[in-house]
Amino acid sequence: MTVTTTRAEEPACPEASPDAACTGAPSPGWGFSTLQIHAGRDYGAHHRAVVPPIYASTAFDLGDVDNAAELFAMRRPGVVYSRTGNPTHEVVEARLAALEHGSAALLVASGQAAVAVALLTLVQAGGHVVASSSLYGGTYALLTETLAPLGIETTFVEDTGDPAAWRAAVRPETRVLYAESLPNPQNDVLDFGTVAAVAHEAGVPLVVDNTVATPYLIRPLDLGADVVVHSATKFLAGHGAAVAGAIVEAGRFDWAAHRDAYPAFSAPNPGYGGLVPVEAFPDSAFTFRARAQYLRDLGPALSPLHSFALAQGLDTLSLRMARHVANARTLAAWLDARPEVTRVHYAGLPGNPHHALAERYAPRGTGSVFGFELAGGFPAARAFIDALELFTHAANIGDVRSLVVHPATTTHVEMPSEALARAGVTPGLVRLSVGLEDSTDLIADLERGFAAVARM
Ligand SMILES: *Cc1c(COP(=O)(O)O)cnc(C)c1O
Repeated sequence: MTVTTTRAEEPACPEASPDAACTGAPSPGWGFSTLQIHAGRDYGAHHRAVVPPIYASTAFDLGDVDNAAELFAMRRPGVVYSRTGNPTHEVVEARLAALEHGSAALLVASGQAAVAVALLTLVQAGGHVVASSSLYGGTYALLTETLAPLGIETTFVEDTGDPAAWRAAVRPETRVLYAESLPNPQNDVLDFGTVAAVAHEAGVPLVVDNTVATPYLIRPLDLGADVVVHSATKFLAGHGAAVAGAIVEAGRFDWAAHRDAYPAFSAPNPGYGGLVPVEAFPDSAFTFRARAQYLRDLGPALSPLHSFALAQGLDTLSLRMARHVANARTLAAWLDARPEVTRVHYAGLPGNPHHALAERYAPRGTGSVFGFELAGGFPAARAFIDALELFTHAANIGDVRSLVVHPATTTHVEMPSEALARAGVTPGLVRLSVGLEDSTDLIADLERGFAAVARM
């Protein structure tokens, strides 16, 4: 039986209309909360589905042979194979680019893949990385255990607010400066002005891991960074239900002006019909190379199911971040007043050494991941964590649930002791990722931890 629906008029938007009113193209003036829900939407391209559909398809029909050749040479936009692109990803990539004020974005399988792909797009054997010493443990391991044996050396900068320290680390073969916008557990806000100036003076891009801040709190690309990487597993998704990564570029770095350092950006690419990245993709040559070479060759592709899960989280990003920050401020101030606590590493606290940078670069708050030190050292940290009932003991961060971990024996265990000291990871340090629960319940749980310390 055929069911016919009759309409008084022609539908205003036939399925594949290119008309802007029909594609639902975002308005340039939209604010953050509007963009997190609507940027990248293209109703016309997705059967007018309001929620980005999951394209659980490995491959896409190539049309005729000439069309296939155009697609493969990247002379025509379109998806070919889900290792290097997928329509679900396209919506989420456009959304992330809009939120970060970038020109293009790339989804990959994890935050770790985002860091690795971003670095490999910039630096080869014989090249050199200058990185902040306040780093995620996995990034430290990538640089020292995986990239170093491949011939990519890293110099770590300890005093990240000192331009002379960054300058002293730069060598002729340096290809990238790397840092985190809101490192944990120290919450030592990056001095963007200083680091971006040194990078550009040296003619190299600045790559910033913006996982803990998210674009709601800090937009590195507006502060001089050239590329942003994310563990979207954390706050961007927020639900703690999917591992995902993202890379976003500003589209401003002049690769052609530095063609000796980055020859592949300006040279004809043999894999893609001889196209010259900077000419074919003037504001997204980095994303092209990351996708068309490193995602293609190394293969850390995100599942479209997980980019869908990421999109569900992004819808509420601003609301969640505001609540994460409100809860973190309450807990940090409360911990700061406890006699058992020697230090609270939260830049939002007025007495914190990073408070001035926090006010300048993160006026909406410095996130909800921070450490605090117990006077009783490791035995106190162990008793404290083991007594908690509401906080989940997990190595993750950026979940709706509040999480606690002992960095020195878990997340930072791969670091040698000097590196641990540089990262502020002492035996008595406890790290919190403050979630969205009622702060009174979280404080009651922390009281339980202090009671256990008192019983020691
Ligand atoms: C978790 C994390 C990563 C790695 O991300 P995965 O999604 O776990 O691979 C990178 N950087 C930071 C700051 C992180 O917190």
